[in-house]
Amino acid sequence: MNNDVNTTSCNAYEIERIRSVITHTPSSHLLHILHAVQRQFFHISPLAIIEVASHLGLPISQVESVVEFYAFFYTSPRGRYNILFSNCTSCGYMAHGKNLLQLLAQRLGVVAGETSSNGLVSIGETSCIGMCDHGAALLVNTTPIAHLDAEKIEHIATLIQAEKPLADWPAEWFQFDDNIRRKDLLLNDMTASDCLCNGLGRGADSLLNEITQSGLRGRGGAGFNTGIKWKFCREAKGAAHYVVCNADEGEPGTFKDRILLHSHADTVFEGMTLCGFVIGAAKGFLYLRGEYRYLLPHLEAVLARRRKLGLLGNIILSQPGYVFDIEIIVGAGAYICGEESALIESMEGKRGIPRVRPPFPVTHGYLGQPTVVNNVETFFAAAKISLHGSAWFKASGTEKSAGSKILSVSGDCSAPGIYEYPFGITIQQILDDCGTKDIQAVQIGGPSGTLIDKTEFKRRLGFEDLPTGGSFMVFGRERDLMSIFSNFAHFFAHESCGFCTPCRVGTTLLKNGLDKIASGHGTHYDVDEMKRMAALVKRRSHCGLGQTAANHLLDGLQRFPLVFEQHLVHSNFEPHFNLDAALEEARQISHRDDAAAHLA
Ligand code: SF4
Repeated sequence: MNNDVNTTSCNAYEIERIRSVITHTPSSHLLHILHAVQRQFFHISPLAIIEVASHLGLPISQVESVVEFYAFFYTSPRGRYNILFSNCTSCGYMAHGKNLLQLLAQRLGVVAGETSSNGLVSIGETSCIGMCDHGAALLVNTTPIAHLDAEKIEHIATLIQAEKPLADWPAEWFQFDDNIRRKDLLLNDMTASDCLCNGLGRGADSLLNEITQSGLRGRGGAGFNTGIKWKFCREAKGAAHYVVCNADEGEPGTFKDRILLHSHADTVFEGMTLCGFVIGAAKGFLYLRGEYRYLLPHLEAVLARRRKLGLLGNIILSQPGYVFDIEIIVGAGAYICGEESALIESMEGKRGIPRVRPPFPVTHGYLGQPTVVNNVETFFAAAKISLHGSAWFKASGTEKSAGSKILSVSGDCSAPGIYEYPFGITIQQILDDCGTKDIQAVQIGGPSGTLIDKTEFKRRLGFEDLPTGGSFMVFGRERDLMSIFSNFAHFFAHESCGFCTPCRVGTTLLKNGLDKIASGHGTHYDVDEMKRMAALVKRRSHCGLGQTAANHLLDGLQRFPLVFEQHLVHSNFEPHFNLDAALEEARQISHRDDAAAHLA
């Protein structure tokens, strides 16, 4: 009986604390309430799920499934210091030959992937956190720290053992340079609020015409004409129209949106506001990836300032009848939410499962209403076009790829960072500019993009040849490409949302196959099986994640067959060979068309 009484009073106390967190959260968005509960209790308990569901009037099963879906929510307690090392090939935890994750885990006496018995610390890993220009990096309670080395790891361990709050950690650890190495069309132009003034002054029809004529294509990767997207949305019937800025850049090796949001947030918000003006939307959302949560106070401050200046809100720049405001929603660690329909699902407080399309978001988007979803860089470029006009934009780039592209350059180069080039630039020029030597491969557009070898460095960036969302990863001669392929395969298997079987099962089988080959236990049979599986995943998956998840593997098999060959059991690989000559020979006998024919 006494036990029952204790349990009941214990639960009542717990419920009271949970309710207090919920009611003090200054947002009614499910993700934000769950973030608050997670921060306070270091996990989201079954009791908390019931309370959140009841507070928001949602089914318990919906809240439960959301908690289980997102990587940054936990159903069992994490440590008061929750450390997540980025496992990206560019900002990952291997530095100077040291495994920094293991170093910290050993130093603090914690098993990697687990929480210490005193609840002080958890150490684990997460997908790329977008700090690739700053070396090895981690998140501590969602705040990034980069430039990790053994010395810094020791310092972090000492601070954790002393239970120092993050506010008392060295402030310079939380400052990040933009590392803008090359500016071109957009980044050279420092005007900001003139964009809005000019754009509104043009009128909605003329502005839409200017955006369309400019040839601006979506910078997230898909490359759809921005003006046409805005036009479709504008013409779609609905009770309300919405603007969504996709700031969920999760492609490993991509960090350009981080810099745009940090140093050019005004212009990005102007682009969104102008889009709202064109399509007749009163509400915009910026969906910020959970890994960039540290930018939230800055972005909220920019929004508050803009409201005060009459650049957002009920009367914008005295424009009669134009009302527009922007709300920020913070994601919780799901790469798939970069897919526009998955992002909308997440905005609606659900799991980030891509929708069946059509209908497309321009007619049936957020809450089933017409919605424009564009990338951060797209809104940034649209704002600049509203100021300078379509001719100014089209004067740069190529026929099918107007304007410039902002790249996130990382990997084996002496000057990683942000580089802006007109479309049409050669890969070799970028490699020369970022300080490389003896490069064996470049991964363009991230793991879902294209892997090229040194015979292809004359190829050009652009929708005609090599499109990219912005990731540009450089791999020097010393890199073990097999470990890169394996890393990418683990990434996709981890990030698959699990909705469709070809991707859910296929990405795991590809990961297992690559692990087997990388460990020296694979055979030619395994390689053939992987080719078959890669083709199936590519053709049968429901969304872009699955359809591109095997690209790196297929490119690797085509361009670097010897990398696979030398790992196989019964390999004919001769260790003392001339790699360049062999590479050239392999290229000649293994053209892309041959690979495609083999897969067909
Ligand atoms: Fe989910 Fe993968 Fe299917 Fe896309 S392809 S819906 S990520 S399981």
